[in-house]
Amino acid sequence: MAEVTCSFCGRSKKDVDLMISGIHAHICDKCVTQANQILSEEKKSKTEAGFSPNFKLIKPIEIKKFLDEYVIGQDEAKKIMSVAVYNHYKRLMQRKLDNDVTIEKSNIIMVGETGTGKTYLARTLAKMLQVPFCIADATVLTEAGYVGEDVESILTRLLQSADYNVEAAERGIVYIDEIDKIARKSDNPSITRDVSGEGVQQALLKLLEGTAVNVPPQGGRKHPDQKMITVNTENILFICGGAFEGISRFIGNRLNTRPLGFVAGLDGLHPADINKDNLLQFITAQDLKSFGLIPELIGRLPVVSYLNPLDTDALRKILTEPKNALIKQYRKLFDMESIELEFKDGAIDFIVEKAMEFKLGARGLRSICEAIINDAMFELPSEKNTDRLVINRAYAEEKFSKSHYSKLKVA
Ligand code: ADP
Repeated sequence: MAEVTCSFCGRSKKDVDLMISGIHAHICDKCVTQANQILSEEKKSKTEAGFSPNFKLIKPIEIKKFLDEYVIGQDEAKKIMSVAVYNHYKRLMQRKLDNDVTIEKSNIIMVGETGTGKTYLARTLAKMLQVPFCIADATVLTEAGYVGEDVESILTRLLQSADYNVEAAERGIVYIDEIDKIARKSDNPSITRDVSGEGVQQALLKLLEGTAVNVPPQGGRKHPDQKMITVNTENILFICGGAFEGISRFIGNRLNTRPLGFVAGLDGLHPADINKDNLLQFITAQDLKSFGLIPELIGRLPVVSYLNPLDTDALRKILTEPKNALIKQYRKLFDMESIELEFKDGAIDFIVEKAMEFKLGARGLRSICEAIINDAMFELPSEKNTDRLVINRAYAEEKFSKSHYSKLKVA
């Protein structure tokens, strides 16, 4: 019988620890180890060059189409975000060797009233891109050494959402909510140490700039015994959002106080074209500065986008149209009990009216629906004979008036 030899290196069976047989060939343990090394080196060099083996670049139009399935309206914001995200990932794909033009990061800042979909947009984006995503609240952040959370805690959350896969986290998206709440308190110049404002902005700056940050894996205070994980923020996309209540004042002032000849010249706007009800659409970095964000931070958030306040029509669409619209979710829940659920137009009108009244944007819709439908969700699963529930305006009004919601005073 012929001697068994490795088909790759020619060593005979007696010279190796293990010989694995294929259909027409053999491979020894040494060749397996070597092949494995070649594979991992190849993988590493591709990742270092910005390529991830399972990363797919999606074009802006496709990104927007996906967002359209979930987020109602906000076309301008969706377009701006789609381009920014596309460019961000193009930047990641850029080979390190190709260093004649450096593409800078396109971190985004979104301005819009509460409940207009800022968080939802960021979350939907992350879902589409299948990258780790986390939400951080700027109001709980403080400068290192003060009571509250250090800015590194944001990265702890991102790491957790990436199952502690550092490489994945380094390509993730972080949404920082309520960024307006850490604005410099300009009307209080006597303050000597602005713990919750400017100091936090400075601390955030480092994160946004792109540096290697030592992150406590379990969060909490930095502890000498805790083993830190180093996360490089260079390729993390930061999206900041805030309501920036009162910023319209700065926008209005800026637009009005320009010498007349400049108004048309700089912005292409004539005073008559300016829609006073929605000045947000004219927002620029200058207004963010007037509001109290430090210029360095604004510089790290080059993409400025705004979200429109939601009107009755938008709220109605949000209730009924998106892929996971609330009404569709309730119908599904009842369907699982073999009960057909129907919301009449009158009931939907009522829900939308109440949401407008409470001024919570789309955020109010869910709790109003819950108040109306909770009794049915409580009772019907135990009833054998019901196979249909129709919710009309009278039903909605009656249930709502009995709920604690109706006792709330509208501001
Ligand atoms: P914000 O961050 O602007 O305060 P959110 O994104 O948290 O508001 O919105 C609250 C909820 O309202 C979201 O989870 C989403 O279900 C719904 N919503 C808000 N805006 C929209 C929109 N434009 N299209 C669809 N749903 C929306």
